Order: sequence, then C-alpha cells, then structure tokens
Amino acid sequence: MSKEFEVAVIASGSKGNATIIKAGDTAFLVDAGISCRRITNGLKECGLHPLDLSGVLITHEHTDHVSGLPVLSRKYKLPIFANEKTWQAMELRNEIERSCHRLLPGQLSFGGMTVSPFAISHDAASPVGYSFLFKEEKCTYLTDSGFVNEDIKLASLNSDVLILEANHDEEMLKTGPYPRVLKERILGTRGHLSNTAAGWFLANMEKMPQEVFLAHISQENNKPELALATVERILSDSGCSVLPRIFVTSQGDLVHN
Ligand SMILES: [Zn+2]
Ligand SMILES: [Zn+2]
Repeated sequence: MSKEFEVAVIASGSKGNATIIKAGDTAFLVDAGISCRRITNGLKECGLHPLDLSGVLITHEHTDHVSGLPVLSRKYKLPIFANEKTWQAMELRNEIERSCHRLLPGQLSFGGMTVSPFAISHDAASPVGYSFLFKEEKCTYLTDSGFVNEDIKLASLNSDVLILEANHDEEMLKTGPYPRVLKERILGTRGHLSNTAAGWFLANMEKMPQEVFLAHISQENNKPELALATVERILSDSGCSVLPRIFVTSQGDLVHN
C-alpha cells in the first residue's frame, strides 16, 4: 500500500473524469468532467470539502474533463490550473470565473507536494498528465494518450501509485458499433491507450508501482473485468514477479485506495 498517497477516482471514462489525489494535508482534483454535486459528494466520501482542495488540475479541454468547472468555479472560487493552449481551447471558459484560472507552471509546490505536468499524445490542444511527489513517494496520472513515448515513460518512472488508462479492448472496438472515423481516432497515436498497451507499459516499467488504478475504461468497447484480466495476463506472461495491487475504476462508483 502507498504510505503517502490517497487516491479516489470519483468518475473515469468518456462520460466524465474527476480524481482526488491527496498526500499530507494537500489535495488536488485532477479534472472536473462531472457535475459539481458529484464532485462534492465524492470529496465528502473521502472526508473532504471542495475548499480543502489546493486546486483543480486540468489535463485537456475535452468536455468529459472540464464540464463541471463553471459551477465549481462560481461556487468555490477554486484555482484552476490549465496551460494557455488548453485554456484557450476550452469552449466553456467564458462560463468559468476568469479569476480562477491559473496558468499551469512547469512545476508547482503546495504543502510539501510537488506537481509536475508532462506532455501526452492526444487529439487536444496541449494535453498533459501529472506526476506528484510527496516525501519519498510518487503518484502519476496518465489517461487520454494514444501511446506512451519515452518522455512519458521517463515522467512515470519510479511511480508508487499509477492511474493508468486502459480505454478499450482492441477487438471489441474494431468489431463494435462506433463509426470507422471514431475507431481510427481512438486507435491512433493521439487517441487512447488499449488494455494491451496499458499492460505492456506496466510490464516494461523498471520499477513496478505498488498500486495501479485502471482508468478511462470505455463503456462501449471494454469491460472492467476484461481490462483487469488483460493487464494481469500480460504481467504474468512477461514474468513480472512483483505484481501491483490493481484497482479497476468504473463509471458509477468511487474507487479509493
Ligand atoms: Zn477523456
Ligand atoms: Zn480526451
């Protein structure tokens, strides 16, 4: 178990994303793609209030990551960290309290926690993942990336806790109901990580994280149990001796370590 990080995935997937990452007295929300009410309820389940958050960290401008921001910003005036391109690309930015926007710096520090954004590969203006350092531990948030390049591997190196996208099962996606253009988008280098890609990424990590949250699982092209089984099979096939504790997130329930 992670000694320092508490992670709670309130929602994950194309219908909305919001994750609480807390260490010591510092807590951040990564993305706010669900209603303010659901976010507040999720925080409450973890014994937190929106005003306990040091801010909301935005990964990219897609609606499933930002739709809750207007109400959240009006009600609680929380700082919203987004890089300039993401902010400009956010269609609902005019509904967000302007004073809440903070330009995402290269690194930010709050209460002993250091947050570092890193570039990911997705069809958005300037999408990022985040790594969090607190004391000797590291937690990394990585969803919405078409593939994992060397820079992303480097950014996730030595993570103790990893929130990792396992978006789709490639067979289910290919034979499923999505139109061809959308299938190609998801499978492309600026789309989403498959179960297999997530499994191999994990299997090839120099140091295995203690805890992994499989996230952004598609409702149409995946199943939580299939994502878990695929990742576990790849880990065992590749001879990994130390296995992480794996949590599978689903759209409706809060998943907490
Ligand atoms: Zn997304
Ligand atoms: Zn996206």
